[in-house]
Amino acid sequence: MFVIGLDCADPRLVFEQWRDDLPTLRQLMEEGEYGRLQSCEPPITVPAWSVMLSGKDPGELGVYGFRNRADYSYERMQIASSLSIKAPRVWDILGQHGLRSVVVGVPQTYPVRPINGWLVSSFLTPPGARQWTYPASLAEEIDDVLGGEPYEFDVTHFRTENKDELLDNIYRMTRKRFRVLHYLLDKPWDFFMFVEMGVDRIHHGMWKYMDPAHPKHVPGNPYENAIHDYYVYLDGEIARLLDRLDKDTVVMVVSDHGARPMMGGFAINEWLIREGYLVLHEYPDRMVPLEKVAVDWSRTTAWAAGGYHGRIHLNVKGREPQGTIPPSDYEKVRDELKAKLEAMVDHEGKPMGNVVRKPDEIYKTVNNIPPDLIVYLGNLAWRSVGSVGLRRLYTFENDTGPDDANHDWEGIYILWDPRQRLNGEEKHPLPIAHIRDIILEILGLRVQ
Ligand SMILES: [Zn+2]
Repeated sequence: MFVIGLDCADPRLVFEQWRDDLPTLRQLMEEGEYGRLQSCEPPITVPAWSVMLSGKDPGELGVYGFRNRADYSYERMQIASSLSIKAPRVWDILGQHGLRSVVVGVPQTYPVRPINGWLVSSFLTPPGARQWTYPASLAEEIDDVLGGEPYEFDVTHFRTENKDELLDNIYRMTRKRFRVLHYLLDKPWDFFMFVEMGVDRIHHGMWKYMDPAHPKHVPGNPYENAIHDYYVYLDGEIARLLDRLDKDTVVMVVSDHGARPMMGGFAINEWLIREGYLVLHEYPDRMVPLEKVAVDWSRTTAWAAGGYHGRIHLNVKGREPQGTIPPSDYEKVRDELKAKLEAMVDHEGKPMGNVVRKPDEIYKTVNNIPPDLIVYLGNLAWRSVGSVGLRRLYTFENDTGPDDANHDWEGIYILWDPRQRLNGEEKHPLPIAHIRDIILEILGLRVQ
């Protein structure tokens, strides 16, 4: 099996809008089957790819986002690395059966762990990492393939206003990755999977230029086709890889979530302050991350983290160091916050359509430290701004640099099997079209 992972590839773009401009993907669709792939909660790169490759939900994995609470203190966070994933992933299971894998750029593979095959770690590899391949000697082979130029895990500074430079960086990174993929195709593999991050980066960096539904879209701007052209370029790169596969290799194309225009940001901690849930010793005179201000924990009920979705933590007596909520009131406070968030209106006074989840209700189990509430602002139309000091609730600037797109609930899958012509139908919904099941199900490795 050969799996092409396109981080953030969106079904509307691939299946509808640009279908005729992407001959390779279109052929896979027409000779195979395809459909929308329901992402996990939250629909975020970490944990979504690990959900896809382990068949476990984020609660079972104990990974709720890029950064998770390390303990019940107020400060300690940890990055969800490969070490956070205790469940076996597809290549671990295949390895136990003597099958060999090539894995390139799949999130949460750093620090590198041994694999029966070859692995190149992902965009979460820190700069200057000592070992970023398995075996370690593979790094030297890659250096040779790239003529001494450094392999790029991710786009440097993707949150930039310099869009020409951004495009250069995305294309350079992707070209290098495909050169390395061509080299790795010669290894004797049974399972080959790579994830290209460029799709996610170009969406976040350039969506407003492409999508008339984005509030900052200017018709006729010079970057209107930038995302389209990158998809077309990728389609050509994919064609050259597929040309080299033998006649009994099943091909899958998958994404971990889709994308949608971002309407703006909602300052969730600012709202908690106004509602009296979050109390600061001193309100800052400029916009700063919550970690940089002195919180009066003895009078605080709840605080939140920002990102493509919001995460609310409650300050519970006996759990947090200066907890204020008696455990017997925990559910009452949670329900009160949930009801207020669901009733919220946007900057124009219209219902915002927030979706609020309790982790213990959506996951099979909750390992490590989950947020107490998960919030999808405008059901992902708005991002969650964790900074304070804005003096307003709605913002159309981003606290972490320009970003035009939010994630959306549905990614893509295309399944092409050379041994059997499928009917080219769009399946919606397929019983297996959930990110948790898709690859494992097709390989017959379903995890209970
Ligand atoms: Zn992603």
